Order: sequence, then C-alpha cells, then structure tokens
Amino acid sequence: ELKVRTGAPAAYEVAEEDYQFAKSAEYLRLQENFKLTTQHGMTNPFFTVHEGIMNDRTIINGQEYINFCSYNYIGMSGDPVVVNATRDAVARYGTSVSASRLVSGEKPLHGALERGIADFIGTEAAIVLVGGHSTNETVIGHLFGPGDLILHDSLSHNSIMQGAILSGARRRPFPHNDWRALEKILGEIRHEYRRVLIVVEGVYSMDGDYPDLPQFVEIKKRHKAYLMVDEAHSLGTMGLHGRGMSEHFGINPREVDLWMGTLSKSLGSCGGYIAAQKEIVEYLKYTAPGFVYSVGLSPANAAAALASLNLLQEEPERVARLAENSRLFLRLSKDAGLNTGGSNNTAVVPVITGNSEHALVLSQLLRSRGINVQPILYPAVEERAARLRFFITSNHTPEQIHYTVRAVAEELDSIDPSYRGADRPLP
Ligand code: PMP
Repeated sequence: ELKVRTGAPAAYEVAEEDYQFAKSAEYLRLQENFKLTTQHGMTNPFFTVHEGIMNDRTIINGQEYINFCSYNYIGMSGDPVVVNATRDAVARYGTSVSASRLVSGEKPLHGALERGIADFIGTEAAIVLVGGHSTNETVIGHLFGPGDLILHDSLSHNSIMQGAILSGARRRPFPHNDWRALEKILGEIRHEYRRVLIVVEGVYSMDGDYPDLPQFVEIKKRHKAYLMVDEAHSLGTMGLHGRGMSEHFGINPREVDLWMGTLSKSLGSCGGYIAAQKEIVEYLKYTAPGFVYSVGLSPANAAAALASLNLLQEEPERVARLAENSRLFLRLSKDAGLNTGGSNNTAVVPVITGNSEHALVLSQLLRSRGINVQPILYPAVEERAARLRFFITSNHTPEQIHYTVRAVAEELDSIDPSYRGADRPLP
C-alpha cells in the first residue's frame, strides 16, 4: 500500500545553492560582472531603451544620439517601403502562421522569400527559419553527428559552436582566419573522420575582418569537406551589390556548400536562412528540428525580409554608401592613432581600448557628447581586447563620422594621454 508522507525530512542533504537560484554560483558570477559599472557610478550599458527606429540616429530618454549600435547596415528597418509591405502582409495574412509550415502549410511570402534569397545569392534553393541563432544551431546540429569533424574559426559566433556541440561531432577550432593551420589539421586527421564541416564567417562582428575565402574553397575541395559561410554581417554589406563574400571575391557561389545568413541585419527583419543545393534544402525542410518542430516565419517577418531584398536590388547605391562610410571611418580612426585591430574596410570598426574600464568610461563620455556606441567588455572578449564597437550604416553622413572619430580621440586623450602617442594631432 502506498502511503504519502508529508513533512518528513529527506534522507539526504541538498546545498541551498542547488535549489535556490539566487544563491547559485552562476548567478553570483553574473552579479560580480556588474560591479565594474556600479563601482564607477555609471549606468548599466545593457538593455538601453530606444524610443524609435535605430538607424544612423536613435532616441534614448527623449534625447537624440548619433548611433553606432545597430546592425541596420543599409537602413532597411524603418524604411517606408519595407514598413508598408509589412503592414500589407499583416493585414492580409495575420500576425502569425501559428504552426510548422510542414504540417499546417505556408503563405506565398515564404516561397517568394526563399526563391528570392536563392536567386540573389546564386544557389539552387534556400530555406528560412525563425531565428539566425537557431538556424546555425539546428542546421549544424542536425546535419553532422558522431564520427564527423567540425572545424570552425576560433572566433566563431556562439550559434556555430552551439550547433557543433549539439551535433555530437568532434569539434576543433582553428586559429582565426588561418587557412594554413586549417590545412595542416586536415592533412593530419581528415582520414579519421567521415564527414568534415569547415565553418567560417563572412565578416567577423567583433573585429570587422574577414577570411580569404578562395583559400578555404580550395582547401575544402582538396580535402573533400563541406564548407559553410555565416554571412550574418556580410550579406548586404560586401560585394558591389551586397551579394556577400562570393561577390566580394568573385567566386562561384555554388562552390560553398552552405551559405547561412540572418534576416535580422541587412534585411531589416528577424529570422535566418540557409542557401544551398536543392537536396540539402529539401532534407532540411523535412527533417531539421528547428524548422520541422517550430513555427514558420511570421508574415510580417517574411514580408519585411522580402521587401528589403527587393529594395537592396533596386538600390545598390545603399551598399556603395555603406562602403564609403566604412572606409572613411576606418581611415580617420587610423589617422588619429586609434587601435582598430584587424578591421578591413567593413561595416564593423572596433576601437580597442585595452581594458574594460576604459571602454566603459569612454562609452559613457561619448554618450555625453551625443554618440551612442556599445562597449564590449570582459568576459565577452579578453580583458586586453576590451573595446568600443562601431557599426557603420549607409545612412551615416561624413559629418557624423568626422565628429565621432574626433570625439573618440579627444575623450581617449582625457582618459589615457599615452594611448594615441604623445604628439599625434587630433583628426
Ligand atoms: N551568426 C552571426 C555571425 C551573428 O553575429 C549572429 C547575431 N549577431 C547570428 C548568427 C544570429 O543571428 P540572429 O541575431 O539573427 O539570431
């Protein structure tokens, strides 16, 4: 007979931290990270509320700032054409497709968007999923498994690493952008594994540099591996028409097995895509857990991405303006003696301050001069690599860029007079 006893003490001990989250080691560690901010009496730089569209400018607490915190690289989010297309789609199709496209069907927008992405990038087919992060996680996690090898750049985005971990394949990073090191690893251990996936990014979002993609294509061919390129920060920003790294380097897009990208940055929406050969896309559509067991892209998100993709093709001058602005920002920064790391004429320009405190103080001083830029602090990067990270957009004006670089140089002088070298003139 089963008796339910109430009030009897458990016959074993459980530490408080193991059942009260506020006392757990991970929560206390998070609180420790906030100390730098509070010690200096500064405001928390995270979760800033923006009261309008984030573009070259933004409004925080009723005040306007020049903005360098948004991936709205070519101004699609908030563009009237994109907003109107989105509004029409919501009126026509509602706000949700409510279930997986596989079972409950899809809207014409889904097919049109996938066709549009495949044609723009130059692959046979494409599939769109509800998040960029979840696209990497589910696609890498699903396509590869035990007995396979995943070689990824050491600075890979979290979503790539999560996917690799999920897959159960052997995971091994290679030094940042170092195709020679990759080739050496493959020469030594390729034969021990069945399938091999090499993952790189188009433009790296912490540093604004990029890999020598043709070398990676050669290596993947030589070693019979799959190559995946995450174009989160290169689609819409690189190549004359914004087609990304294949256009930048003039390589045949079909030589890369998996082009991955997000809809959240240049395409002003939310979601992720894989553009690839039709067999891969078909397989993912019927089997990838993050697609099969997740809702289809909302009509609003599909319409916003599709309208942005069309506008990008009608107005390639957006990409040209972004490239000009990026070059100007980098040149002025270098002339002013700022440490921009490996940034290489992309829309991402870091200013490395060398420690978290300086990055945090500098961001707050710039805020007081009407500039909004995010500090990247330890542990997001190594302490000596702490930085401010500037995202340039096509909508920034040369005046905004001149004003900003000068302000950065002046404020850095006030924090650390030795930073730029004693007698370097202000820009
Ligand atoms: N890959 C890279 C390289 C990224 O930078 C990001 C997001 N910053 C993602 C994937 C995830 O994209 P999303 O934010 O659209 O989920």
